[in-house]
Amino acid sequence: MLKKGDRLVVATHNPGKVKEIGALLEPFGMQAVSAGELGISEPDETGVTFAENACQKAVHSAKASGLPALADDSGLEVAALDGEPGIYSARWGGPEKDFDMAMQRVHEELEAKGATTKEQRIANFTCTLALALPDGTCTVYDGKVFGSIVWPMRGPHGFGYDPIFMPKGFDITFGEMDPAKKHTMSHRARAFEIFVRECLEAGR
Ligand code: IMP
Repeated sequence: MLKKGDRLVVATHNPGKVKEIGALLEPFGMQAVSAGELGISEPDETGVTFAENACQKAVHSAKASGLPALADDSGLEVAALDGEPGIYSARWGGPEKDFDMAMQRVHEELEAKGATTKEQRIANFTCTLALALPDGTCTVYDGKVFGSIVWPMRGPHGFGYDPIFMPKGFDITFGEMDPAKKHTMSHRARAFEIFVRECLEAGR
């Protein structure tokens, strides 16, 4: 359990994630400092699950800093593609981070499988948060949001695969949804909710 005033390393070099996680921790009196600010390098992601990759990042920062560290790993899992792109979601965008190309690939691979109906195009986003302690122990908190893959891409909002992901119970994609609404129901919001409940709330 983390306590008010504790320092916590946000184990990422992505300024967007540092900001988002820092804002989440602030109401709990946690002092968030990023791995980048502490001069901690980014480890290679060699795991084969979201949990392994998130823990690799969190444990690396916790050991290097002597402080608890929080990392996340996330991606899109398409059932008919055996869970791909999954942990390779960022890598499908290539060095140019071209997600139009990555979304086109998801669509083409679904077509090649003959997956045309909503039921055949079921997908989910996953976010795994990992909290590591300096002794190397690591606990993970998983958030998921389910839906289906649509084509063509729809909507100007969000990032990554948002324009082809339609959450269950909605007829708009995350790309068409008001970002504030997405943030209340996303895989990331759900993982944070569990982390807050299990690690922060009791010490508030
Ligand atoms: P990482 O967690 O930084 O390794 O990257 C995860 C990748 O998954 C991102 O580059 C996106 O392509 C994809 N992804 C994760 N969360 C979302 C989301 O909320 N919307 C769209 N794409 C996402």
